Amino acid sequence: MEFDSDVVIVGGGLNGPALALALAQAGLQATVIDALPRDTRQGDDFDGRGYALALASQRLLSGIGIWPQVADHSQPILEVKVTDGRAGEGPSPFVLEFDHAEIEEGPMGYMLEDRFLRQAFLTAMDGMDAITQLSGETVVAQDLRPGGVTVTLASGGVVRARVLIGCDGRRSGTAERAGIKRTGWDYGQTALVCAVEHEKPHNGIAHQFFMPPGPLAILPLPGNRSSIVWSERNDTAAQIQALDDDGYLNALRPRFGDFLGKITLSGKRFTYPLNLTLANSFVGSRLALVGDAAHGVHPIAGQGLNLGLRDVGALAEVLVDAARRGEDIGAADVLARYQSWRRWDTATLAVATDGFNRLFSNDNPLLRGIRDLGMGAVNAMPALRRRFIREAAGLNGDLPRLMSGRAL
Ligand SMILES: Cc1cc2nc3c(=O)[nH]c(=O)nc-3n(C[C@H](O)[C@H](O)[C@H](O)COP(=O)(O)OP(=O)(O)OC[C@H]3O[C@@H](n4cnc5c(N)ncnc54)[C@H](O)[C@@H]3O)c2cc1C
Repeated sequence: MEFDSDVVIVGGGLNGPALALALAQAGLQATVIDALPRDTRQGDDFDGRGYALALASQRLLSGIGIWPQVADHSQPILEVKVTDGRAGEGPSPFVLEFDHAEIEEGPMGYMLEDRFLRQAFLTAMDGMDAITQLSGETVVAQDLRPGGVTVTLASGGVVRARVLIGCDGRRSGTAERAGIKRTGWDYGQTALVCAVEHEKPHNGIAHQFFMPPGPLAILPLPGNRSSIVWSERNDTAAQIQALDDDGYLNALRPRFGDFLGKITLSGKRFTYPLNLTLANSFVGSRLALVGDAAHGVHPIAGQGLNLGLRDVGALAEVLVDAARRGEDIGAADVLARYQSWRRWDTATLAVATDGFNRLFSNDNPLLRGIRDLGMGAVNAMPALRRRFIREAAGLNGDLPRLMSGRAL
């Protein structure tokens, strides 16, 4: 079979471009296909979405040349405060505090708005001859043969490659067409997402308030602005989202509190239904799944994109090392290395975020007592606290080279 490129990547959201750039910089050719037209993907409106990028993710973005393009728009996360609370009652006295000064590496991570990250990916891909971008093209079929893969576009075009990578999000058609089943469940919660401006500075502190219906994250953006990810039960979230901006702020204020002074909305408001979805296998014949196509987790720990970028670092390393050794990059034993590296790690995190959500998203007085005592205990143990800080920074476990500041 003649190949158009070494890899064909379905999905040009966030993980697809990151993988294409890592591979292209190491000498492999990639075709990136996305169903959305380019104009839609690079819309410049502040859309109210931001990401908490762990330090390890920031290192990967540096390694593939993206970080210098977005650094000026980022906000370092210097401290994280975790509080158990109820709307209108303020935080409980048991506050968990994680300060970046307790580890040597630097801030735990950075907040970055979605629009800057997407734009930087598109511009960086434009500058790479080894990357072919197909925008506004939907993949409708795939043929996975021992000698190579062929994907067919709705427009009738075909792309041939040695390996197919599904970066096509939580409802991955790539996984479905390959017969890969998923495990998961609905949380009955919806995340209300927006950004607010506030009177007082946030000083780089991220807050996680655990409320009975679900967690409220207040994450610092550059200036006196913060990104909000506010989980509520589905029916309450639908009622709040239907309110006008004043009504929405009136619902947010008793939960948010007044520690940052007066708040106003900045940008658009979004809702996301929350569910857990794990692909039963991250690989198939000449196929690998990356990012949300492989796993969608609860945003309670802000780990969704960080997990995806860890997949990117691991898969890029496996494929590039295989190519350097002269192996077939689509061979089953090569792809199995990626699966064994990433699947266990991801399943563990999915179970942990699920457990945290269940433990904290309720008003049971016994569980409330246990978690307050637990938070107080962790706070009193510096070694355990440092372990949590390193976890939040993405520094624990078997790190891909690109996440430990080394070249691919
Ligand atoms: C409320 C909420 C808050 C979050 N907060 C954080 C956070 O603070 N930190 C963090 O790290 N993560 C966070 N996440 C997770 C993060 O948004 C996702 O992990 C990330 O967007 C996944 O990127 P992706 O590239 O894997 O998939 P997506 O961004 O879903 O991209 C998939 C792409 O595939 C394309 N596509 C799909 N099907 C086809 C097809 N057949 N043909 C061609 N193209 C196709 C789509 O057009 C799309 O562009 C949050 C998520 C939610 C829901």
